[in-house]
Amino acid sequence: MGKINRLDEHLSNMIAAGEVVERPMGIVKELVENCIDAHAKNVEIQILQGGIDTITIIDDGDGMDAQDATLAFERHATSKLKEVNDLWNIHTMGFRGEALPSIASVSHVLLRTNNGIDSTEVEINYGKLMSAKPCGTPRGTMIEVKNLFQKTPARFKHLKSPQYEFSLISDVVQKFALSHPEIGFNLSHDGRTIFKTRGNGSLLEVLMQIYGRDTAKTAIQLDGSDNDYKISGYAMQPQFNRATKYYMLMYINGRMIRNYHLQKAIMDAYSHYLPKERYPIVVMNMEMDAQLVDVNVHPSKWEIRLSKEKQLEKLVYETISEALKNQLQVPEVKKSE
Ligand code: ADP
Ligand code: MG
Repeated sequence: MGKINRLDEHLSNMIAAGEVVERPMGIVKELVENCIDAHAKNVEIQILQGGIDTITIIDDGDGMDAQDATLAFERHATSKLKEVNDLWNIHTMGFRGEALPSIASVSHVLLRTNNGIDSTEVEINYGKLMSAKPCGTPRGTMIEVKNLFQKTPARFKHLKSPQYEFSLISDVVQKFALSHPEIGFNLSHDGRTIFKTRGNGSLLEVLMQIYGRDTAKTAIQLDGSDNDYKISGYAMQPQFNRATKYYMLMYINGRMIRNYHLQKAIMDAYSHYLPKERYPIVVMNMEMDAQLVDVNVHPSKWEIRLSKEKQLEKLVYETISEALKNQLQVPEVKKSE
C-alpha cells in the first residue's frame, strides 16, 4: 500500500484558505471583488468587531440562481473562466473559484441571493452545507461571515485587535472606492457609518472624501499613454506628503496591485520635490490589454507580472514628472534635505 492520500475537499479548502483569507481584510477584499464582478452599483459593508465577529456584505448586482448559490461554494467553481485561454485574458476581479469555499471552510456563512428569478438562502458551517432553500431577499447578494477561525485556534490567535483589523478593512474599502468611483460604497463599523461614497463616477470627489478637500483640491490629473498603456488618475501636490509608502495606490485594469518597480518610478518622479523619507499620495490607474498582464501570480491577487514592465515604468515616470513640472506651485527641494 502506498503512503499517499488524496486530501478531501474540506481539507484542501482549509489549506487554500491560508493564502486567500489570512484575516478579515482578505475576506472583505474577495467578497467586494465578487460584488464588482456581479455589476453591483452599490456595495454595503457592515463590520462588527473588526470583522472578527461578523462581516456582512450586501450588493445590488446580478445575484445567482438556486443551483449556482450552492455550487459557488465548491472548490474551483467559477462563472468567470471557461477554458485555458481565458486565463491569459482576464476581465474580472476573480477567476480562481477559491474565495467562497475557502472562506466557508473557516467560518459560518449565510448567503442570500436573488437573480431576479430565484431567491435562495444557503447556510454553510465550517465547510458543511447546512441548508439551501428559497427565501425572500432583494435583488442582489448578501453574504454574512461569522465565527471566523473558531475551529482553527492557531489562526484565530494571529488576529490582532478589532481596531487594527478594522483599519486594514477600511484601507482596502477605500482602495476599492478610489478604483471604482462609479460604485457607491458604504462601510460601517459596529453600527457606525465610517465612510460612504455616492458612486457618481467622480474620482476627485472620492479623493476629497478620503484625503480631505485641501489635499485633493489641488490634485494634478494624470494623463499619459503609449502604444500599449494608458495612465489616468491623480497625483497630489508634493507638500501633501506622507511618512509611509502606502499612499501610492496603483491599479491595473481596475485591480489594486502592489509592484515595487512601478512604485519606485513614482518615487523617482517626485524625488526632486520631496525631502528624504517622505512619500507622495498618488492614485494611478493603468489600463492595458488584458493579455499584457498576468494576474495569476498569487492567490491573493495583489501581485501581477507584466510582459513589458520597463516600458510601463518609463511611462509612469514620464507621466508623473510631466504632471508635476506643469502644475507645481512649490519650490523644488534638494534631495539631501
Ligand atoms: P471567483 O470569483 O474566482 O469566480 P468565488 O469563490 O469568489 O470565485 O465565487 C464563486 C462564484 O460565485 C463566482 O464565479 C460567481 O459566479 C458567484 N458569486 C460570488 N459572489 C457573488 C455575488 N456577490 N454576486 C453574484 N455572484 C457571485
Ligand atoms: Mg471571487
